[in-house]
Amino acid sequence: MAECQFLAKCPFFNAEEVVQRRHLTAYLKETYCRGDFARCCRYQIATTIGREHVPTLMMPDQTRWSEEILKSHSAHSGSGHPAQS
Ligand code: SF4
Repeated sequence: MAECQFLAKCPFFNAEEVVQRRHLTAYLKETYCRGDFARCCRYQIATTIGREHVPTLMMPDQTRWSEEILKSHSAHSGSGHPAQS
């Protein structure tokens, strides 16, 4: 199965708060990074408006937070169009 293009350097898994929680990271990697990464909130923001807009500690399933970021970016840019990646 394909793997997320950001997995090698995903800041989430390198954050100190996250590194220590091995069971959680194993589950998330299995479910999202090496599974359905298109559903990952981090992936969606990175591929829509850019990796620099992804909060370091945002979890792959924090949908509400990611929707707010995308909505806010769209409102500020005024275009509503996704950025080129
Ligand atoms: S957390 Fe999301 S963006 Fe990071 S590697 Fe996994 S699927 Fe990709």
